[in-house]
Amino acid sequence: MLNFTMGPVMCEDYILEIGSRQVPYFRNDEFGDLLKENERNMNLLMKAPEGARTVFLTGSGTAGMEAAVANTLDKNDRVLVINGGTFGERFVKLCRIHEIPYEEIRLERGCDITAERLAEYDGKGFTALLVNMNETATGTLYDMKLISDHCRRNGLLLIVDAISAFLADPLDMEELGADVIVTASQKALALPPGISALTLSERALNRIEEKECRMMYLDIGMALKDGLRGQTPFTPAVAILLQLNARLRRLVDKGVDEEVALTAGRAEFFRESIKDLPLTMVSHSPSNAVTALHPLNGMKAVDIVNKLKDEYGIWVAPSGGDLAEYMFRVGHIGHITDEDMNVLLDALREVVR
Ligand SMILES: *Cc1c(COP(=O)(O)O)cnc(C)c1O
Repeated sequence: MLNFTMGPVMCEDYILEIGSRQVPYFRNDEFGDLLKENERNMNLLMKAPEGARTVFLTGSGTAGMEAAVANTLDKNDRVLVINGGTFGERFVKLCRIHEIPYEEIRLERGCDITAERLAEYDGKGFTALLVNMNETATGTLYDMKLISDHCRRNGLLLIVDAISAFLADPLDMEELGADVIVTASQKALALPPGISALTLSERALNRIEEKECRMMYLDIGMALKDGLRGQTPFTPAVAILLQLNARLRRLVDKGVDEEVALTAGRAEFFRESIKDLPLTMVSHSPSNAVTALHPLNGMKAVDIVNKLKDEYGIWVAPSGGDLAEYMFRVGHIGHITDEDMNVLLDALREVVR
């Protein structure tokens, strides 16, 4: 099977090899050093400011989103949520469950936030902003400069779900003035699912220290304290943290900008190659991570997905619910070779013609 979904994605062989080994014991200095190295390398790749910390949680990306919301916000906050699809909706739901006052900015499918929309919320007493840097549901990359300027101007805590954008789109935590950046192992990090990381600014760290966390498993304060000695409060997904260690080392050697450029090149090549096909892009500001496509030839998107799977052994990502017939998504993250890309393009041409 060739996998062009949005996670889990295809891993490189050295990652698979680590996953095939026995899982080692972890309450020792060897593992502690490895976890501390993971934190240093994650901070580097994030371009995190001085004093920032990264914690690794065992859980998928949503665990990281929930931990971010529940550890840095409370009922005294007023949160602005940018909601352009499934993942924006998830932040809304988290605010509701954790009883955090919020207002959402709903965006049309595939549309970016505008300066005019944001200006309506200037000086209105908000305290934090939640955004999915790439709304993966439609592959829409938001204008993070605009959002960052708004947060600076209004003194808002900026919480970014960069789960699908990290390593695919340019991201500089210090430049954005972001306070929390959430990532997960199964997207462009190209590891198995199971680890979510939170990179936290000093401002976020202070908030976490001040607030009482009403969860045990996702208590970031505890994770931060244990993280100082390279430990975690509970048994982590040890094997994935070992795989992460190998992957982060290579990324730091290669340079994060180089990795982003690689994904950008792949996305551009794909989009250029399908120009003559009866497919139109759903997003007006596409992320490098994924291309959401709507068929123009009367075919149902879900039928394209199933034909690719059943007749060609290729997975692309279907859309859920109401959008299943309307659009499907092709991921550009993970271990995708030029040859894989050509196999996909040949198959897609045959299916839609
Ligand atoms: C994949 C993804 C998540 C996390 O989903 P999980 O299934 O919990 O890993 C969150 N936000 C975005 C934008 C994503 O792409």
